[in-house]
Amino acid sequence: VTRVAPSTNPLTTVLRQLSAATEPACLLDANGIFLFVNEAWERHALAHGAPGCLASALVGTRWLDHVQGDEVRALHAALLERALRQRGPRATAVVQVSESNGPARAALLSTRLEPVLHGGEAAGVKLVHTLVRERPIEEVYDVVRAPPDGYRDAAGALTACSCCRRLRHPADAERWDFLPALLERPVAAEQALCPLCRELHYGALDAVL
Ligand SMILES: [Zn+2]
Repeated sequence: VTRVAPSTNPLTTVLRQLSAATEPACLLDANGIFLFVNEAWERHALAHGAPGCLASALVGTRWLDHVQGDEVRALHAALLERALRQRGPRATAVVQVSESNGPARAALLSTRLEPVLHGGEAAGVKLVHTLVRERPIEEVYDVVRAPPDGYRDAAGALTACSCCRRLRHPADAERWDFLPALLERPVAAEQALCPLCRELHYGALDAVL
């Protein structure tokens, strides 16, 4: 899919490792641009009906440009920055756990960003997704079996948490509900980060931002 030369480049070695990996993984260059996406990543994208996440759509583009929601994008930018500013000889991975929920399943997904060091500096970042836990959605959230239209604000907009995918209630900004219908038939929604996800999954980043 992509060409990384010469053979002494540590990115080439990582690329071979990731090709054989069973977990969805990709390789970013030092500017956060996709160099490579492995087969497990492509299988996951196809299984989740996300053609925009196939290698053909990603390679050559910025990882952050595919992260939805300004706040979550800023948090991911901080993670990437933290991985990239490491210096050798040993690399420490940055790990972020977030949610990847479907209409029936609540899934926790870890994103591990590990710098690929070359001459003591980060030449790129290896990114690996791992499924941490999967449970029926009802065990995690109160499920509202209703169409999303009832959650439109006065301007007609929906606001969804880009992490847990819950919708903000138009009459109560503190209330976020999980509507399986939104994930079964996605409609345009403004992307935000709900207070629960911010605290549970991104709280540790406050010191970085
Ligand atoms: Zn959330």
